[in-house]
Amino acid sequence: MSESPIRIRCPNLTCRKVLAVPQVARGKTVRCRTCSTSIRVPSKPESKKTGSPDPESVESKPNQ
Ligand SMILES: [Zn+2]
Repeated sequence: MSESPIRIRCPNLTCRKVLAVPQVARGKTVRCRTCSTSIRVPSKPESKKTGSPDPESVESKPNQ
């Protein structure tokens, strides 16, 4: 039930404006109002989890 808008940064280096788009815009493309650049809204949150398990640390155990 998190309807807080998604914050994405405009990829345009001369703009870099932070846009707030609604949750319904996930996976869609929005347009920056400042520079009219089309921005792809990520379908998943971009929150990087610190301390996430490394794929290398997960050993594939063979069948015993
Ligand atoms: Zn922009």
